[in-house]
Amino acid sequence: MLQQTQVSRVEQYYGKFLLQYPTIRDLAVAAPAQVREAWQGLGYYRRASNLHRLAISIMEERNGIMPESVQELERLPGVGRYTAGAVATFAFEQAEPAVDTNVGRVIRRAFFSPRARVTEKRIWRLAKTLVPRKGKPAWTFNQAIMELGALVCTARIARCGECPVRSACRSGQKNLTTEARNTRRMHGMRLSRASDNIHQEKRR
Ligand code: SF4
Repeated sequence: MLQQTQVSRVEQYYGKFLLQYPTIRDLAVAAPAQVREAWQGLGYYRRASNLHRLAISIMEERNGIMPESVQELERLPGVGRYTAGAVATFAFEQAEPAVDTNVGRVIRRAFFSPRARVTEKRIWRLAKTLVPRKGKPAWTFNQAIMELGALVCTARIARCGECPVRSACRSGQKNLTTEARNTRRMHGMRLSRASDNIHQEKRR
């Protein structure tokens, strides 16, 4: 549901959908029209039909058991690399990256110069090396970096001054140095203006 859709909107559907289809089996046996009806208003209806197909495939081909590895998850209908990584880490605490737009931006800013051309593949490779090797810490890391990109290191503004990873971030250190230089410059200008005023006062 969260693909291309904001959390606030999904909140109006998620609970109701789960009440209607509490298990994979319940979803698998539903009529396509019913599933679409439960999705009505959320848009991107292909997601509903993919989810339905996914439930059917898990019941028919996997004995009702959801796979845990990224490789197997990616073979399911409607599941791409990001969704596979997110399910693997958030549902099964696997040490897998889940690089969405926010996470990709944080990694770019933290490790590369703004002018560098960095491929998606490189970002994913780097993300994989950052994720802790054990279950719960991997879950926490992925949650944290997503939140960082959504709330602090946003597309509109990088709030480096309040960022918890600024000491390890390439752009953060640069931004803070520039900010400090500008603050010093402003301070210097104010002092020199004040000193000119004092001199003028004395001359009068
Ligand atoms: S220090 Fe700045 S650029 Fe780096 S991750 Fe934090 S907010 Fe983003």
